Amino acid sequence: SGKKVLIVYAHQEPKSFNGSLLKIAVEELTKQGCSVTVSDLYAMQFEPRATRNDIVGRLHNPEAFNYGVETWEAYKRGGLSKDLVEEQKKVQEADLLIFQFPLFWFNMPAILKGWMDRVLVQGFAYDLSKAYDGGLLQDKLSLFSFTTGGTKEKYAIRGDIRYLLWPMQHGIMHFCGVKVLEPHICYAPEKVSEEKRKEMLTAWSQRLKTLWKEEPIDCSPEWYFK
Ligand code: FAD
Ligand code: ZN
Repeated sequence: SGKKVLIVYAHQEPKSFNGSLLKIAVEELTKQGCSVTVSDLYAMQFEPRATRNDIVGRLHNPEAFNYGVETWEAYKRGGLSKDLVEEQKKVQEADLLIFQFPLFWFNMPAILKGWMDRVLVQGFAYDLSKAYDGGLLQDKLSLFSFTTGGTKEKYAIRGDIRYLLWPMQHGIMHFCGVKVLEPHICYAPEKVSEEKRKEMLTAWSQRLKTLWKEEPIDCSPEWYFK
């Protein structure tokens, strides 16, 4: 299809279930003719901390460090660190961003959160009056694909898993103007049978076959909290 996909992947072990989900996505999307780039965050030893090392050269205000202001100013003068510039280039080129990770404390792993904190800089991903539908990363899609420790039944009892998606999908992606596809959740791969695991992997591969026909979700409070 000629589409460009960036998969931001946060698992330490290639043999993990997340590793298998990544492999399937790369294979299936490549087979479709997409060009696929993977940011394998642990393998890259991606720096998750938002520090002044992210700014090359002089600071805008060395007296009192403000990360948001400094990265915004650095972005405008081309003074962000090399690793951030590289990730921003991948984001800029992508039609679709897939985030593949295991759920950690009802959230994404710190290394992936650090990617969000550091890559989605003001001026690049959003700006003063350019947020949500006006965000700067227009005409892009995102998809959160993750695994859990808890079973589907447990999540049904504890409350809708959509609550967890509000900060990630709405607070980050929608804020930056990126449209959101239905999340892909593989519940409790450690607890289910080998057969069920194979089924979950097949389901992911099947979904990817018709992914480009999907409509984004209506990313409003109703989707999450109704
Ligand atoms: P793995 O253990 O790698 O995989 C499960 C099984 O699948 C393994 O036996 C593996 O060999 C097998 N497998 C891999 N590939 C294939 C294949 N191709 N075919 C068949 N089998 C295969 N869970 C929650 O629900 N909520 C939380 O808030 C939460 N917080 C956490 C916080 C921390 C700090 C940690 C460490 C875990 C937390 N968890 C939580 C659990 C976590 O989400 C799960 O452990 C994780 O999602 C499981 O995914 P995995 O890829 O690591 O599984
Ligand atoms: Zn939204």
